[in-house]
Amino acid sequence: MIMDCTKYIGPCSCGRDHELETKMVVVEYDALSRFEEYMAAVGLGDKRRTVVYDSFVYGLTEGKHIKADQEIVLPAEGLRSEDVLIEDMMTKLDRPEVLVAFGAGTIMDFGRYPAYKLGIPFVAIPTLASSDGFTASICSVILKGQKKSISMKAPALVVADLDIIKGAPKRLVSSGVNDILAKYVSLADWKMATLVSGEDYCPMVAGLAQEALDIMRAAADKMAATGEIDHEAMTMAQMKSGLTMQLWDNSRAASGAEHLMAHLVEMKPPRFEKAEGIHGECVGVGTFAAVKEYHRLAKLRPKAKPFEPLTSEWVMEKFGERLYDGIMKENAPDKDILGKFDPQNIVDHWDEIVDIINTIPPADELEALYKACGCKYLPEHIGIDPSLSEEALDISAAIRNRLTLIRMKRVLDFGE
Ligand SMILES: [Zn+2]
Ligand SMILES: [Zn+2]
Repeated sequence: MIMDCTKYIGPCSCGRDHELETKMVVVEYDALSRFEEYMAAVGLGDKRRTVVYDSFVYGLTEGKHIKADQEIVLPAEGLRSEDVLIEDMMTKLDRPEVLVAFGAGTIMDFGRYPAYKLGIPFVAIPTLASSDGFTASICSVILKGQKKSISMKAPALVVADLDIIKGAPKRLVSSGVNDILAKYVSLADWKMATLVSGEDYCPMVAGLAQEALDIMRAAADKMAATGEIDHEAMTMAQMKSGLTMQLWDNSRAASGAEHLMAHLVEMKPPRFEKAEGIHGECVGVGTFAAVKEYHRLAKLRPKAKPFEPLTSEWVMEKFGERLYDGIMKENAPDKDILGKFDPQNIVDHWDEIVDIINTIPPADELEALYKACGCKYLPEHIGIDPSLSEEALDISAAIRNRLTLIRMKRVLDFGE
């Protein structure tokens, strides 16, 4: 399947003029045999080209390598997305006019980052479809020792060859299912936030995320029923979800309360030191916990409580000294989104919020699907003590100043 991305750009009913760096997304079997055609179609066919691989993928994809003016094969051992490593690679570049990154998530940052710095286009050849980052501009990189998610360069062209992607371990397929089923929660969070705080919303961008979710849900149902994996559908779902982040300039449609579990696992605050899992797995645990909590809250009726900033005692207790400054800064009283609207709005819109929650499948339905698809979804699956399950959501909500129903609980009294 080839997706022409131009249909999403231009003036929109939401009031914005949407832009996309990505011109074309190809998700097909044997796609790389037609790679030169796709490069020509997006106007990059005659540009001087550097192709970046890691040594593991380079060996694994022998016979599939593409034509290059310069090839860089980075040692897979110890490879991570970090400024010093990327900048070291940049010193080896031989005047490229386009960078092609061939591999998994980390290698994409070796395309995104230099392309951004050099002001040249970047092309992605993903060898996995375990998350939705490939079509996004967001670079998850260690800068001066600190992990940051910053917007750099999105690929001008994505060519996903399903003959390579189908060879990925099952664990990564399951993780990919998790990353998209998360949109049940992220889309609900966005809609609720719009309702109560007047946050900007785009029906087209939300619709594209919903499309990704519907495609993945159908593929997951099929996988659950027959064991068959529809790589084309699953990969396309990842690509569509990633595009929402470019169209909206942030991850609002694709990342809500549930995604913060992945950040929590990466940050490892006290009591979560042993937490470990790949992105989609942590997101799956966050999704399942949020789905249970949202359906539970939907049966209650809250009263509004005045906004109070997070206290330094709470932040120190939950995050410890190492993370304290960052969390305090993110939740500064004058910046906290909870202080920007009247909490009574949530109460006044509670019936509509319940309607939104009721569009999310019940937890037992999702649990059956997760089990059948081999997905991780319980805290103990990623090294988190089950007794921390509920608290984990409240703690993770402090990681990002983005309005979710979990964050809203701080200004609501459920009489519990
Ligand atoms: Zn729009
Ligand atoms: Zn994700």
